Amino acid sequence: MGPSTTDPATDLAHGAAPLHLPAPRLQELMDELRRAGYACVGPTLRDGAIVYQRLPSAADLPQGISDDQAPGSYRICHTGSARRFAWANGPQALKPLLFAPRETLWRASPQPDASLAFDAAIPDGEALAVIGVRSCDLAALALQDRHFLGGSYPDPYYASRREKLFIVAVHCSHPAPTCFCASTGDGPRATSGFDIALAELDGGFIAEAGAPRGEQILAALGLAPASAGQLAQGEAQLHHAAAVQHRALPGRNLQAALFANLEHPRWSDVAQRCLSCGNCTSVCPTCFCHSEAEIPQLDGAHSEHVREWDSCFTQSHSFIHGLTIRPDTRTRYRQWLTHKLGTWHEQYGRSGCVGCGRCISWCPVGIDITEEAAAICGPGD
Ligand code: SF4
Ligand code: SF4
Repeated sequence: MGPSTTDPATDLAHGAAPLHLPAPRLQELMDELRRAGYACVGPTLRDGAIVYQRLPSAADLPQGISDDQAPGSYRICHTGSARRFAWANGPQALKPLLFAPRETLWRASPQPDASLAFDAAIPDGEALAVIGVRSCDLAALALQDRHFLGGSYPDPYYASRREKLFIVAVHCSHPAPTCFCASTGDGPRATSGFDIALAELDGGFIAEAGAPRGEQILAALGLAPASAGQLAQGEAQLHHAAAVQHRALPGRNLQAALFANLEHPRWSDVAQRCLSCGNCTSVCPTCFCHSEAEIPQLDGAHSEHVREWDSCFTQSHSFIHGLTIRPDTRTRYRQWLTHKLGTWHEQYGRSGCVGCGRCISWCPVGIDITEEAAAICGPGD
Protein backbone atom coordinates (compact mmCIF):
# COMPACT_ATOMS: atom_id res chain seq x y z
CA MET A 1 0.00 0.00 0.00
CA GLY A 2 1.56 3.34 -1.03
CA PRO A 3 1.85 6.58 0.92
CA SER A 4 -0.77 8.34 -1.17
CA THR A 5 -3.49 5.89 -0.23
CA THR A 6 -2.83 5.44 3.47
CA ASP A 7 -2.81 7.40 6.70
CA PRO A 8 0.55 9.23 6.89
CA ALA A 9 0.53 8.71 10.66
CA THR A 10 0.61 4.97 10.30
CA ASP A 11 1.75 4.12 6.76
CA LEU A 12 4.84 1.89 6.80
CA ALA A 13 5.73 2.13 3.11
CA HIS A 14 7.39 5.51 3.45
CA GLY A 15 10.85 6.70 2.37
CA ALA A 16 13.63 4.23 1.48
CA ALA A 17 12.71 0.69 0.36
CA PRO A 18 11.79 -1.38 3.41
CA LEU A 19 13.97 -4.41 4.11
CA HIS A 20 13.41 -7.54 6.18
CA LEU A 21 15.66 -8.25 9.15
CA PRO A 22 15.11 -11.79 10.47
CA ALA A 23 14.91 -11.80 14.29
CA PRO A 24 18.04 -13.98 14.74
CA ARG A 25 20.03 -11.30 12.85
CA LEU A 26 19.19 -8.50 15.28
CA GLN A 27 22.55 -9.14 16.94
CA GLU A 28 24.22 -8.46 13.57
CA LEU A 29 22.62 -5.01 13.53
CA MET A 30 24.06 -4.33 16.98
CA ASP A 31 27.46 -5.65 15.88
CA GLU A 32 27.39 -3.34 12.86
CA LEU A 33 26.54 -0.37 15.07
CA ARG A 34 29.49 -1.25 17.32
CA ARG A 35 31.79 -1.50 14.31
CA ALA A 36 30.63 1.99 13.34
CA GLY A 37 31.76 3.25 16.77
CA TYR A 38 28.53 3.23 18.78
CA ALA A 39 27.91 1.71 22.18
CA CYS A 40 24.43 0.18 22.21
CA VAL A 41 21.75 1.25 24.67
CA GLY A 42 18.35 -0.39 24.68
CA PRO A 43 15.33 -1.44 26.69
CA THR A 44 16.05 -3.90 29.48
CA LEU A 45 14.16 -5.06 32.52
CA ARG A 46 15.45 -3.45 35.72
CA ASP A 47 13.77 -3.06 39.11
CA GLY A 48 10.39 -4.08 37.73
CA ALA A 49 10.33 -1.68 34.78
CA ILE A 50 11.59 -1.52 31.20
CA VAL A 51 14.33 1.12 31.08
CA TYR A 52 17.13 2.10 28.72
CA GLN A 53 20.57 0.97 29.75
CA ARG A 54 23.68 -0.54 28.19
CA LEU A 55 22.72 -3.44 25.99
CA PRO A 56 25.47 -6.07 25.90
CA SER A 57 23.62 -8.21 23.35
CA ALA A 58 20.25 -8.71 21.68
CA ALA A 59 19.63 -11.48 24.23
CA ASP A 60 19.30 -8.79 26.91
CA LEU A 61 16.22 -7.24 25.27
CA PRO A 62 12.93 -7.80 27.16
CA GLN A 63 11.78 -10.78 25.09
CA GLY A 64 8.41 -12.12 26.22
CA ILE A 65 7.91 -9.23 28.61
CA SER A 66 5.11 -6.69 28.49
CA ASP A 67 3.48 -4.21 30.84
CA ASP A 68 0.10 -3.44 32.40
CA GLN A 69 -0.43 0.28 32.86
CA ALA A 70 -3.28 2.30 34.33
CA PRO A 71 -3.52 5.64 36.14
CA GLY A 72 -1.08 5.36 39.06
CA SER A 73 -0.02 1.84 38.11
CA TYR A 74 2.77 0.12 36.13
CA ARG A 75 3.33 -3.63 36.34
CA ILE A 76 5.53 -5.94 34.29
CA CYS A 77 4.00 -9.14 32.99
CA HIS A 78 5.47 -12.19 31.25
CA THR A 79 3.74 -13.14 28.03
CA GLY A 80 5.93 -15.91 26.63
CA SER A 81 5.91 -14.08 23.29
CA ALA A 82 9.03 -14.30 21.11
CA ARG A 83 8.81 -10.55 20.56
CA ARG A 84 11.27 -8.15 22.16
CA PHE A 85 9.45 -4.83 21.74
CA ALA A 86 5.86 -5.79 22.65
CA TRP A 87 5.48 -3.25 25.43
CA ALA A 88 4.63 0.40 25.92
CA ASN A 89 7.18 2.90 27.17
CA GLY A 90 8.43 2.59 30.75
CA PRO A 91 9.20 5.57 32.98
CA GLN A 92 12.29 6.65 31.13
CA ALA A 93 12.53 8.49 27.82
CA LEU A 94 15.63 9.68 25.94
CA LYS A 95 15.74 12.73 28.21
CA PRO A 96 18.27 11.47 30.80
CA LEU A 97 20.67 10.36 28.05
CA LEU A 98 20.94 13.93 26.75
CA PHE A 99 19.83 16.29 29.52
CA ALA A 100 21.62 14.73 32.49
CA PRO A 101 19.58 14.56 35.71
CA ARG A 102 22.58 16.10 37.53
CA GLU A 103 25.81 17.37 36.08
CA THR A 104 28.64 19.81 36.74
CA LEU A 105 28.57 22.70 34.28
CA TRP A 106 31.84 24.32 35.32
CA ARG A 107 34.48 24.34 38.03
CA ALA A 108 35.89 27.47 39.64
CA SER A 109 39.41 27.56 41.02
CA PRO A 110 41.60 30.34 42.46
CA GLN A 111 44.59 31.55 40.44
CA PRO A 112 48.00 32.81 41.69
CA ASP A 113 47.04 36.40 40.80
CA ALA A 114 43.95 36.09 43.08
CA SER A 115 41.55 35.88 40.14
CA LEU A 116 39.20 32.94 39.56
CA ALA A 117 39.37 30.56 36.61
CA PHE A 118 36.19 28.93 35.34
CA ASP A 119 36.58 25.66 33.44
CA ALA A 120 33.57 24.37 31.54
CA ALA A 121 32.97 20.66 32.12
CA ILE A 122 31.68 19.82 28.63
CA PRO A 123 31.14 16.06 28.53
CA ASP A 124 33.11 14.05 26.02
CA GLY A 125 30.78 11.07 26.13
CA GLU A 126 30.89 8.11 23.82
CA ALA A 127 28.72 7.77 20.75
CA LEU A 128 25.50 5.95 21.64
CA ALA A 129 23.07 4.01 19.48
CA VAL A 130 19.72 3.82 21.24
CA ILE A 131 17.59 0.89 20.13
CA GLY A 132 13.81 0.78 20.59
CA VAL A 133 12.92 4.49 20.61
CA ARG A 134 9.18 5.13 20.23
CA SER A 135 7.54 7.82 18.12
CA CYS A 136 6.37 9.84 21.14
CA ASP A 137 9.95 10.02 22.36
CA LEU A 138 11.17 11.10 18.93
CA ALA A 139 8.63 13.94 19.05
CA ALA A 140 9.84 14.82 22.54
CA LEU A 141 13.44 14.73 21.32
CA ALA A 142 12.58 17.19 18.55
CA LEU A 143 11.10 19.51 21.18
CA GLN A 144 14.09 19.19 23.49
CA ASP A 145 16.40 19.85 20.51
CA ARG A 146 14.48 23.01 19.87
CA HIS A 147 14.73 24.07 23.50
CA PHE A 148 18.40 23.21 24.10
CA LEU A 149 19.88 23.80 20.65
CA GLY A 150 17.67 26.54 19.17
CA GLY A 151 18.17 30.25 19.64
CA SER A 152 21.37 32.22 20.19
CA TYR A 153 22.76 30.17 23.09
CA PRO A 154 22.71 26.44 22.33
CA ASP A 155 23.49 24.27 25.34
CA PRO A 156 26.94 22.72 24.75
CA TYR A 157 26.34 19.95 27.32
CA TYR A 158 23.23 18.70 25.54
CA ALA A 159 24.81 19.31 22.12
CA SER A 160 27.89 17.20 22.88
CA ARG A 161 25.69 14.18 23.60
CA ARG A 162 23.12 14.86 20.91
CA GLU A 163 25.60 14.95 18.04
CA LYS A 164 26.81 11.45 18.93
CA LEU A 165 23.36 9.89 19.13
CA PHE A 166 22.22 7.25 16.62
CA ILE A 167 18.57 6.29 16.84
CA VAL A 168 17.01 2.95 16.00
CA ALA A 169 13.28 3.57 16.38
CA VAL A 170 10.75 0.77 16.80
CA HIS A 171 7.19 1.56 15.73
CA CYS A 172 4.81 1.05 18.64
CA SER A 173 2.60 -2.02 18.35
CA HIS A 174 1.52 -2.30 22.00
CA PRO A 175 0.37 1.08 23.39
CA ALA A 176 -0.70 1.12 27.03
CA PRO A 177 -4.22 2.20 28.01
CA THR A 178 -2.59 5.41 29.26
CA CYS A 179 -1.11 6.29 25.84
CA PHE A 180 -2.68 8.93 23.60
CA CYS A 181 0.00 9.72 20.98
CA ALA A 182 -2.53 9.27 18.16
CA SER A 183 -4.50 12.25 19.51
CA THR A 184 -1.44 14.52 19.71
CA GLY A 185 -0.24 13.46 16.24
CA ASP A 186 2.98 11.94 17.60
CA GLY A 187 2.48 8.23 17.01
CA PRO A 188 2.30 5.32 16.90
CA ARG A 189 4.40 5.41 13.70
CA ALA A 190 7.90 6.90 13.91
CA THR A 191 7.83 9.32 10.98
CA SER A 192 11.08 11.28 11.32
CA GLY A 193 14.09 11.89 13.50
CA PHE A 194 15.50 8.34 13.33
CA ASP A 195 18.45 6.75 11.56
CA ILE A 196 16.76 3.37 11.27
CA ALA A 197 13.15 2.43 12.04
CA LEU A 198 12.05 -1.12 12.75
CA ALA A 199 8.58 -2.65 12.79
CA GLU A 200 8.58 -5.85 14.80
CA LEU A 201 6.72 -8.79 13.28
CA ASP A 202 6.60 -12.41 14.37
CA GLY A 203 10.01 -13.74 13.39
CA GLY A 204 11.65 -10.51 12.27
CA PHE A 205 11.52 -6.81 11.53
CA ILE A 206 10.76 -4.47 8.67
CA ALA A 207 13.77 -2.15 8.58
CA GLU A 208 13.83 1.30 6.98
CA ALA A 209 16.61 3.87 6.89
CA GLY A 210 15.71 7.43 7.83
CA ALA A 211 19.15 8.96 7.26
CA PRO A 212 22.30 8.17 5.21
CA ARG A 213 24.17 6.70 8.18
CA GLY A 214 21.23 4.39 8.83
CA GLU A 215 21.31 3.37 5.17
CA GLN A 216 25.01 2.49 5.48
CA ILE A 217 24.38 0.27 8.49
CA LEU A 218 21.52 -1.54 6.78
CA ALA A 219 23.48 -1.90 3.51
CA ALA A 220 26.27 -3.67 5.42
CA LEU A 221 23.75 -6.30 6.54
CA GLY A 222 22.77 -7.25 2.98
CA LEU A 223 19.06 -7.67 3.79
CA ALA A 224 16.35 -8.81 1.38
CA PRO A 225 13.40 -6.51 0.64
CA ALA A 226 10.38 -6.89 2.91
CA SER A 227 7.55 -8.80 1.24
CA ALA A 228 4.12 -7.35 0.54
CA GLY A 229 2.71 -9.62 3.25
CA GLN A 230 5.24 -8.40 5.82
CA LEU A 231 4.51 -4.76 4.94
CA ALA A 232 0.78 -5.39 5.25
CA GLN A 233 1.26 -7.00 8.67
CA GLY A 234 3.37 -4.09 9.87
CA GLU A 235 0.82 -1.62 8.64
CA ALA A 236 -2.07 -3.49 10.25
CA GLN A 237 -0.20 -3.41 13.58
CA LEU A 238 0.20 0.35 13.35
CA HIS A 239 -3.45 0.93 12.55
CA HIS A 240 -4.43 -1.31 15.46
CA ALA A 241 -2.02 0.53 17.80
CA ALA A 242 -3.70 3.82 16.88
CA ALA A 243 -7.23 2.44 17.03
CA VAL A 244 -6.98 0.95 20.53
CA GLN A 245 -6.01 4.26 22.14
CA HIS A 246 -9.07 5.55 23.95
CA ARG A 247 -7.56 8.54 25.75
CA ALA A 248 -7.23 11.90 23.98
CA LEU A 249 -6.65 15.52 24.78
CA PRO A 250 -9.65 17.72 23.94
CA GLY A 251 -7.63 19.51 21.25
CA ARG A 252 -4.09 20.11 20.02
CA ASN A 253 -4.02 23.77 21.01
CA LEU A 254 -5.68 24.40 24.36
CA GLN A 255 -4.02 27.75 25.05
CA ALA A 256 -7.12 29.91 24.68
CA ALA A 257 -9.37 27.47 26.55
CA LEU A 258 -6.95 27.15 29.46
CA PHE A 259 -6.40 30.88 29.80
CA ALA A 260 -10.14 31.51 29.67
CA ASN A 261 -10.49 29.17 32.66
CA LEU A 262 -7.74 30.26 35.04
CA GLU A 263 -10.24 30.42 37.92
CA HIS A 264 -12.02 27.16 37.06
CA PRO A 265 -12.98 25.20 40.23
CA ARG A 266 -11.25 22.10 38.81
CA TRP A 267 -7.83 23.60 39.68
CA SER A 268 -8.81 23.41 43.38
CA ASP A 269 -10.27 19.96 42.87
CA VAL A 270 -7.08 18.54 41.36
CA ALA A 271 -5.03 20.27 44.05
CA GLN A 272 -6.90 18.19 46.66
CA ARG A 273 -5.56 15.04 44.98
CA CYS A 274 -2.12 16.17 43.76
CA LEU A 275 0.79 15.52 46.15
CA SER A 276 3.07 18.07 44.45
CA CYS A 277 5.62 15.24 44.22
CA GLY A 278 6.88 16.18 40.74
CA ASN A 279 6.83 12.57 39.43
CA CYS A 280 4.91 13.77 36.39
CA THR A 281 7.60 16.28 35.44
CA SER A 282 10.43 13.78 36.05
CA VAL A 283 8.97 11.17 33.72
CA CYS A 284 7.75 13.69 31.13
CA PRO A 285 10.08 13.50 28.11
CA THR A 286 9.63 17.19 27.27
CA CYS A 287 9.96 18.85 30.71
CA PHE A 288 13.25 20.68 31.00
CA CYS A 289 13.03 22.73 34.22
CA HIS A 290 16.19 22.63 36.28
CA SER A 291 17.90 24.40 39.14
CA GLU A 292 21.55 25.39 39.45
CA ALA A 293 23.72 25.59 42.55
CA GLU A 294 27.29 26.43 43.47
CA ILE A 295 28.75 23.56 45.49
CA PRO A 296 31.84 24.56 47.51
CA GLN A 297 34.57 21.96 47.82
CA LEU A 298 35.91 20.91 51.21
CA ASP A 299 39.21 22.73 50.58
CA GLY A 300 37.34 26.03 50.83
CA ALA A 301 38.97 27.27 47.63
CA HIS A 302 37.28 25.48 44.72
CA SER A 303 33.65 25.09 43.75
CA GLU A 304 31.50 23.27 41.22
CA HIS A 305 28.48 24.75 39.47
CA VAL A 306 25.88 21.99 39.25
CA ARG A 307 22.67 21.74 37.24
CA GLU A 308 19.98 19.25 38.20
CA TRP A 309 16.42 18.52 37.18
CA ASP A 310 13.83 20.55 39.03
CA SER A 311 10.06 20.63 38.85
CA CYS A 312 7.47 23.37 38.72
CA PHE A 313 5.81 21.46 41.57
CA THR A 314 8.53 22.34 44.12
CA GLN A 315 8.25 25.37 46.35
CA SER A 316 11.77 26.54 45.55
CA HIS A 317 11.12 26.55 41.79
CA SER A 318 8.84 29.57 42.06
CA PHE A 319 10.88 31.39 44.72
CA ILE A 320 11.79 34.74 43.19
CA HIS A 321 13.26 37.73 45.02
CA GLY A 322 12.05 36.89 48.49
CA LEU A 323 8.69 35.40 47.65
CA THR A 324 7.25 32.13 46.41
CA ILE A 325 4.99 33.16 43.55
CA ARG A 326 3.21 29.79 43.35
CA PRO A 327 2.65 29.03 47.04
CA ASP A 328 0.18 26.17 46.72
CA THR A 329 -0.50 23.03 44.69
CA ARG A 330 -3.39 24.66 42.86
CA THR A 331 -1.17 27.31 41.30
CA ARG A 332 1.64 24.82 40.61
CA TYR A 333 -0.59 22.32 38.82
CA ARG A 334 -2.12 25.23 36.89
CA GLN A 335 1.35 26.43 35.93
CA TRP A 336 2.27 22.95 34.67
CA LEU A 337 -0.84 22.49 32.56
CA THR A 338 -1.11 26.03 31.20
CA HIS A 339 2.56 25.93 30.19
CA LYS A 340 2.63 22.36 28.84
CA LEU A 341 -0.61 22.59 26.85
CA GLY A 342 -0.84 26.36 26.44
CA THR A 343 2.15 28.67 26.26
CA TRP A 344 4.40 26.03 24.69
CA HIS A 345 2.58 27.02 21.50
CA GLU A 346 4.12 30.51 21.79
CA GLN A 347 7.55 29.19 22.68
CA TYR A 348 7.87 26.17 20.40
CA GLY A 349 4.94 26.28 17.97
CA ARG A 350 3.17 23.25 19.41
CA SER A 351 1.93 21.68 22.62
CA GLY A 352 4.52 20.29 25.03
CA CYS A 353 2.63 17.02 25.31
CA VAL A 354 3.47 14.13 22.97
CA GLY A 355 0.87 11.76 24.41
CA CYS A 356 3.27 9.26 26.00
CA GLY A 357 0.99 8.83 29.02
CA ARG A 358 3.88 8.53 31.49
CA CYS A 359 2.55 11.27 33.77
CA ILE A 360 -0.68 9.25 34.12
CA SER A 361 0.93 5.89 34.95
CA TRP A 362 3.62 7.31 37.23
CA CYS A 363 1.44 9.75 39.18
CA PRO A 364 1.09 8.06 42.58
CA VAL A 365 -2.54 9.16 42.84
CA GLY A 366 -3.41 8.50 39.19
CA ILE A 367 -4.13 12.06 38.04
CA ASP A 368 -4.87 11.92 34.32
CA ILE A 369 -3.83 14.93 32.23
CA THR A 370 -6.46 14.13 29.58
CA GLU A 371 -9.24 14.09 32.18
CA GLU A 372 -8.07 17.31 33.84
CA ALA A 373 -7.71 19.09 30.49
CA ALA A 374 -11.21 18.00 29.44
CA ALA A 375 -12.68 19.08 32.79
CA ILE A 376 -11.15 22.53 32.46
CA CYS A 377 -11.34 23.15 28.71
CA GLY A 378 -14.44 21.12 27.85
CA PRO A 379 -14.50 17.75 26.08
CA GLY A 380 -13.41 19.08 22.66
CA ASP A 381 -14.53 17.71 19.32
S1 SF4 B 1 2.53 15.70 29.75
FE1 SF4 B 1 2.35 13.52 30.30
S2 SF4 B 1 1.55 12.50 28.47
FE2 SF4 B 1 2.28 14.53 27.84
S3 SF4 B 1 4.41 14.19 27.16
FE3 SF4 B 1 4.52 14.75 29.34
S4 SF4 B 1 4.47 12.78 30.45
FE4 SF4 B 1 3.81 12.36 28.35
S1 SF4 C 1 0.05 15.36 39.28
FE1 SF4 C 1 0.60 13.42 40.29
S2 SF4 C 1 2.76 13.08 39.74
FE2 SF4 C 1 2.30 15.25 39.32
S3 SF4 C 1 2.88 16.34 41.18
FE3 SF4 C 1 0.70 15.85 41.40
S4 SF4 C 1 0.66 13.87 42.49
FE4 SF4 C 1 2.78 14.13 41.73
